[in-house]
Amino acid sequence: MKAARFDYALASGIADAVALLDGAGGLGRVMAGGQSLIPMMNLRLAQPSLVVDIAGIREMRRAELSNGELYLGAGVTHAMIEDRKTPDATNGMLPFVASGIAYRGVRNRGTIGGSLAHADPAADWPTALLALGASIDAVGPKGARTLSLEAFLVGAYTTALESNEVLTGVRVPRLSPKARWSYYKVARKTGEFAHTIGAAVLDPERGVRRVVLGGTGRAPMLVEGAARRLDRPLGIADAAAILNSAGFDPVEHHLHATALSRAITRIHTP
Ligand SMILES: Cc1cc2nc3c(=O)[nH]c(=O)nc-3n(C[C@H](O)[C@H](O)[C@H](O)COP(=O)(O)OP(=O)(O)OC[C@H]3O[C@@H](n4cnc5c(N)ncnc54)[C@H](O)[C@@H]3O)c2cc1C
Repeated sequence: MKAARFDYALASGIADAVALLDGAGGLGRVMAGGQSLIPMMNLRLAQPSLVVDIAGIREMRRAELSNGELYLGAGVTHAMIEDRKTPDATNGMLPFVASGIAYRGVRNRGTIGGSLAHADPAADWPTALLALGASIDAVGPKGARTLSLEAFLVGAYTTALESNEVLTGVRVPRLSPKARWSYYKVARKTGEFAHTIGAAVLDPERGVRRVVLGGTGRAPMLVEGAARRLDRPLGIADAAAILNSAGFDPVEHHLHATALSRAITRIHTP
């Protein structure tokens, strides 16, 4: 199948992209790496009247580290993070996650902002960045705003972004040198979308303990019961009990319990 007819515009900057989207009356779509949008258009799951290409906006590839946080422009590709062409503030978690996304061709074009805006429930960045306590910057006709990922990721393929807003960057709090993390992705083959993901971040110096379950068919979720148990390894039965109290059937969702247990256990494995 081929995409339905659409107009194409190459945005010259963020303000231009916002103006183009605003003029499309809700029928415009940003294209970053095109790795999800183009297949969706070819399958006619998406039929925008206007595609606004933001890949040429240099400002969107900006990456910088300040004292408290890492800023990654939305146009930073998975490969740039994997190759450590961007600074790291996460003791290696971001490059590790990037290297497990799809295969190199996809990682060369796919962007961190595109992955978040697409909000595939099985994708890697939403889960990993929620565990890290990240937030996003967006710009629209009414100006700029910053949203925590909890507020941004509303559901499967659904975010709080308006149709005339552009996601411009991601803010990742800097981990302390002794902070630990783990990321346990269950996929049929290396580099495929996840069946389930357990992610954990333990940063006692900053008082941070976060556990996230992803790949559940909905937006990734913080698992408070598991975060409270982050100080020692967690068995699968205990992980299942925690998920059961969060409304997950322990039999049907045994893979989620396994991912949660492995993520927490691995954070204790040097
Ligand atoms: C074969 C294959 C395997 C894959 N495997 C994995 C995997 O294992 N794990 C994983 O996490 N991902 C995987 N992906 C998805 C990949 O990571 C995509 O790159 C990513 O999901 C979308 O990024 P993109 O830059 O290509 O966005 P696009 O395809 O250009 O856009 C995706 C959506 O986000 C919107 N969008 C993009 N950028 C912005 C922005 N800055 N502001 C507002 N809206 C925006 C678009 O309008 C569109 O709706 C895979 C993709 C393929 C093709």
